[in-house]
Amino acid sequence: MTERKQQGIGTVSVWGGEDKSTSGKPTQVAIAQSVSFGYDDIEQWIRVGRGSDPGHIYSRNTNPTVAVFEEKVRLMEGAEAATSFASGMAAISNTLFTMLSPGDRVVSIKDSYGGTSKLFLEFLPRFTIEATLCETTDHEQIEDEVKKGCRVLYLESPTNPTLKVVDIERLAAAAHAAGAVVVVDNTFATPINQQPLMLGADLVIHSATKFLGGHADALGGVVCGTAELVKKVYHFREINGAALDPMAAYLLLRGMKTLHLRIARQNETALTIAKHLQGHKTVKDVFYPGLESHPGHAIARKQMKGFGGVLSFTLKGDMAAVKAFLPRLNLAHRAANLGAVETIAGPPATTSHVECTPEERAAMGIPEGLVRYSVGIEDASDLIEDVDQALAGLG
Ligand SMILES: *Cc1c(COP(=O)(O)O)cnc(C)c1O
Repeated sequence: MTERKQQGIGTVSVWGGEDKSTSGKPTQVAIAQSVSFGYDDIEQWIRVGRGSDPGHIYSRNTNPTVAVFEEKVRLMEGAEAATSFASGMAAISNTLFTMLSPGDRVVSIKDSYGGTSKLFLEFLPRFTIEATLCETTDHEQIEDEVKKGCRVLYLESPTNPTLKVVDIERLAAAAHAAGAVVVVDNTFATPINQQPLMLGADLVIHSATKFLGGHADALGGVVCGTAELVKKVYHFREINGAALDPMAAYLLLRGMKTLHLRIARQNETALTIAKHLQGHKTVKDVFYPGLESHPGHAIARKQMKGFGGVLSFTLKGDMAAVKAFLPRLNLAHRAANLGAVETIAGPPATTSHVECTPEERAAMGIPEGLVRYSVGIEDASDLIEDVDQALAGLG
């Protein structure tokens, strides 16, 4: 935390968590592709096992490469502790199953990530854990539900794929007054644009698969926050076994070195494209928190440094137009992920909410004819030209 105060977040993304005393050693983080770590001194092995000496025993629990990844995220989010997972969903499910017990209640929003909402609607109820999903931007409703008593308030901002914004500081205060733990999925914003712990959250979650890694070549997840809560989540994960692989940790670390540069570019390009699409005759609605017309713009300005690299929009011709538009894009992968150096586009039915039925998507207020557009680091002028030529064919 002290390091975070002294250095800019760009410097932390490059150097954070890395060993600077590299005399005679590799300057880059080594990939410790090993299941276990050997000990000749049995007393030392026991001390490491107890946690009184530093070291690693078994990679399902801790691994040197994975530990550097955790430390870098910890420093960037300004957290006391961090622990990592095989994927973002592993981070989310391990956190919820650590925090919640039968009979408990969690309050969240309708617009959470598709996999997360599946946990709320399908899996938590099997353990008699009640999930109340509020209208995402109805802050009074969320506060009322929190006041009725809950163990966890689970938020996401901006949301995937409709880019709604919730006031983290306001809702965290309400949740704390009710004795609840506040968890925020910060995948869309990244610590460059938003630091939920500074806004009152207790735990922050990332799908590192997206912007943190940034190159769409590794899955990963991470949870950071207070040492006490992270320790509990870590303990569950040790046993649950959803550990991050060292090779994936290396790829994520490599990607994170350029996070601040990528996000600066993606913030800028996404805003430019959102503004451009707003005036387009074939486009119905554009969803991007950086637009002054966005209902959450004032909150976004208050809690974010930039508005992120993802926007979404609906077309006047609805799903038929989306099906005609997407294949015409030359500079976009039509794929399920987001947050990479390449632009990626797709409808929510095949991306963020692929696990949900059309009825569930409708209930969440996600238009079937929506395009989620995750801006890469290409030249903005080329992306605009590409989108324009793809829209032109729609008439
Ligand atoms: C992708 C995503 C997840 C899930 O992450 P995985 O790494 O795919 O398991 C969770 N939350 C948000 C906001 C996401 O975009």
